[in-house]
Formats: sequence, C-alpha cells, structure tokens
Amino acid sequence: MLDVRRRNKRLFYVFLLPSNVLPILWIVNGFRRMTMKSENIGYVYLIGAGPGDPGLITLKGRECIARADVILYDYLAHKELLSFARSDAELIYAGKVGGAHNREQWQINDMLVERAQLGRVVARLKGGDPFIFGRGGEECEALVAAGIPFEIVPGVTAAMGAAAYAGIPLTHRDFTTSVCFVTGHESSGKEVSGINWEQLSLGNGTLAFYMGMKNLSQITANLIVHGRSSQTPVALVRWGTRPEQDVLTGTLADIAEKAHKEGFKAPAVIIVGEVVRLRDKLRWFDTRPLFGKRILVTRATDQAGVFSRLLEGYGAQVLECPTIVVTPPVSFADLDQALRSLKIYDWVIFTSVNGVQYFFERLSELGLDSRALGSCRIAAVGSKTSEALARHGIRPDLLPSGFHAEGVVAKFAELDVAGQKALYPKADRARDVIPRGLAELGMQVVAPVAYRTAIPDTISAEALDALEERWVDCVTFTSSSTVTNLTELLGENRLIHLLQGVAVASIGPVTSATCRELGLQVDMEPEKSTVEALTEVIVAHYSSR
Ligand code: SAH
Repeated sequence: MLDVRRRNKRLFYVFLLPSNVLPILWIVNGFRRMTMKSENIGYVYLIGAGPGDPGLITLKGRECIARADVILYDYLAHKELLSFARSDAELIYAGKVGGAHNREQWQINDMLVERAQLGRVVARLKGGDPFIFGRGGEECEALVAAGIPFEIVPGVTAAMGAAAYAGIPLTHRDFTTSVCFVTGHESSGKEVSGINWEQLSLGNGTLAFYMGMKNLSQITANLIVHGRSSQTPVALVRWGTRPEQDVLTGTLADIAEKAHKEGFKAPAVIIVGEVVRLRDKLRWFDTRPLFGKRILVTRATDQAGVFSRLLEGYGAQVLECPTIVVTPPVSFADLDQALRSLKIYDWVIFTSVNGVQYFFERLSELGLDSRALGSCRIAAVGSKTSEALARHGIRPDLLPSGFHAEGVVAKFAELDVAGQKALYPKADRARDVIPRGLAELGMQVVAPVAYRTAIPDTISAEALDALEERWVDCVTFTSSSTVTNLTELLGENRLIHLLQGVAVASIGPVTSATCRELGLQVDMEPEKSTVEALTEVIVAHYSSR
C-alpha cells in the first residue's frame, strides 16, 4: 500500500517536469537499477542435490550449479555434482555430519548473504530437497531479510529416493493412501514432542522418519504404544540410491534390536508401513549383478568416466585411481608441420581417442578443419577411435580387426602400400610397432607426438587407503601403461601384496601380458578390447559365482 502511494507521488512530480527531461530521467533511473542488480546484489539458488545418486539432480539444478560463482555444499550432497561447477567457482564445504556441525546454521546464513551482497551468484547445494528437513526455510528467511533475490530448485528427497531404490512404493492402492515424512530428531530443547504419535500410529499411512537412527527404539515403541501393530513391517535404508545402499528389514517389534546387532548406522530413513512387504517382489537396485562389488578403475581421469558409468550401471561401486595423466606434447612443432602439409599424405593413422582429440584441436588452432584431410585415407584402431572420428564427420577407410598396433601392420600388409606416405599422430610413449612395421612394408612414416601420457606424481590417497584396507574386490587395467604406472606408483612388491585376493580384469592380450610379467594373475579378459566387453566379462565373472 505504502509503495503504491509513494509511486503515485513520484508520478505526480514526474508530470510537473518539462517533457524533454523525462526520457533522460528514465534512462538514468533504468541504468541505475540495472547496475545495482548486476554489480551490488547477487542471486542465490537453493538447490536440492537429491538423495545420493548424482543422476537424480534436476536439469535446472545442474544448470544453476554451472552458472554459480560460489557453491556452498553440504555433507549429503554428492561430491560428483561439483564437477558441473565452473572451474573458477569458489567451492565451500558447509558440512554437517550427524549433529557434529562444522558450521552453525547462522554462519551458513551469513555466508550466503555476504557472498550475495558481493554481487556473486551463489548455488546453495543441499542434500535431498531444501525444504524437507533441510533448513532451507531458515536460509530463505535470512535472504528475504537481507533483500537478496533467490530461487528454490526442488530435489528428490531422501525418503522418496531411498524407497524407490529399495523397491518400496511409498503409497500403493492395496496398502495405503497416505505417506507422512516425520523427523526422528526433534530440535533439541523441545520439552513436549511436537509429533502427534497418536495420529501417526492410527490407520495404515506409510511413515518415513528422517534423522531417526539414534532414536529408533523410542520411535518404534511410541508407534506400538499408540496403536500401530507391532508386526508392521519396517525398512531401514542407509545411503539410499548410492552404490553402498544398505537395507535392513524387520517389524516394529524387532527392527531396533536387529539394527543394534548389525551396527546399522545413519544416514538412513526408517520406512514404516505395509508397503515395505512389496520390497521382496520389487527390489531391483541391490539385485544387480555387480551390486556390492568394489572396483578400481585405473584409467586417465578424462577417460575413466565412461567405463565407471558402465560398471555403475550394473551396480558396482567404482573408485577411480588415475594412473595416467594426458598432457600436450613439449612442442607442437612436428605435429603442426604435418598438419600444414596434410595433402602429401596418403594415410593418416589414429590409434586412440586422445590422438583424434589432440589432432583436431591442433588443426583448429591452426585455423584449419576436417577438409584439410582432403584426399588422405584414414585408418582407425578401435571402435572408440572411430566414434571420435565420426564426431568430426569422418568415416575411416581402414579398420584393423585387432585392437592393438600389430593389427594395423597386418591390415596394411594386405594392401599395396609400398612408397606411400603415412602420418601417425602418436603418444610420446607409444610402442614403435606401427612405424617399424609400416616401414618394412616400404611406407614412409611420419610420427609426430600429438600428446603425452605421464604418471601422476602420487597415487590417489583414497585409492591407496581402499587397497590397504582390503576394500577393493576387482582392479581393472585398460592398457599396459595402467599396469606399469600403478606398479611404479606403488612399487612392485607392494603392488603384489596389495592386490592379493583382488580379481584382475584386463582389457586385452597385450595388457594381460604386462600383468603376467609383473607377477599378476589375470582373472578376466574379454575377446574384444573395449571397455564395454570388459564390463561384460566382469559381470559374467561375478554372475557365475
Ligand atoms: N533435505 C534432506 C534431508 C536432510 S535431513 C532431504 O530432503 O532428503 C538428513 C537425513 O536425511 C538423514 O539423517 C537421513 O535420515 C536422511 N537421508 C539423507 N540422505 C539419505 C540417503 N541417501 N539415504 C538414506 N537417508 C538419507
């Protein structure tokens, strides 16, 4: 009301001004507002990160993370979601671990307000949904008080995620028509419970308790005392939707005792209701063939993702331990020279996705594109290399059948190539099988270094801990270098010691030979040297057990 009056007053003065001043005033005012918005006041996105599986974040949530200058994230928000952030974004851990709060809520509120007042776009990433036991309401109140604009991006809340991944429909026409989310941990200091136990216990509504593990026995006792049958089924779902999900089922009468015996801990949701019975029929997540298997992926970080996702698709818990880092060559001079004179080559040979990537990146740097390949014919080793070429509109002329360098030479030997010129953009440490073999066929081979592969300075601490604690079930090697580099990172004796009892999966015969040279027994090797085929043999290996 007050605002309307003020505006009317302003309009009245505006009418008194000479008409030629008005447009100028409007422009100045508009500009002032524009600069105020972009320079002085930031923006806050309160984003639900979902319950655990990083794939369960919303598209909008992901977009907001990518846009933010600052990401303030919680303990329950999956760390992988931070990979969507800009590389220059400020990442702040605002963690809370089951009551042992790293920061008080008011400090988090202050941090949000301060960052936004500096004109920054802040993504506040919270586990599950921000408005379900997430104190998102309080954070919003602080923003409103400070006059900071914000948006809420809802997330999949833990009860929904955990129930879905445990195979428990929260509602079902045959069992219940309602579901209730309840805190199992009322804020300390409350003398009288705010929970109406009587109402909760009556009827057959599904109940999902958050933060309730410490009070599990009181919760079950309260429900029984207030009228729920002691035989009502209960499921505890720990780390729901994550590969380490653990589910314990029982009844109101015995679940607390069972949980105590098994040392079942938070974070878990407690699902109470007849719908829990459906889990026997509907469970799907923890019945997948690699569920519970912990697999070490030793590929370079930028290549590990595809393989890790494949394994995770079968339920595996993957730990990435990069043994290779891919970097540009010391000098691009040799590659540049070849790229500028592509016309003189009869063949260009690609043996890896990295080779394709560096080749085309450099071509683009030189102001050229795929057309520079003109009449060159293309050979590609491996289906992934072909796919990488397809992204540049190129279909290879020659696809050697094997997945290694020997296959290339054998394929060329079938052709009449004496006197022809081949360009082979290679990794610095590539074996010389191709240049030597093709030279023996009378070809002239130019092999500039397109990228380097090196050993990281140290092994990832997480991976080392996992090996030392005998956490790993299976280690995967996707090239000889992954084997030799891991050996170098750990030392030969330590490698053998740490891999005792760990199944070894190797991508193909060359890699397997390197394993054996180092004293490792190879348990799995696919016929086709692709990560898809490697995944299949790992699945077959564990399914047959
Ligand atoms: N805002 C969050 C809840 C935060 S309260 C949401 O909407 O999900 C923290 C509680 O959520 C934990 O104590 C636990 O009860 C539950 N929780 C969060 N993530 C979980 C998960 N992956 N599996 C099981 N319970 C989870």
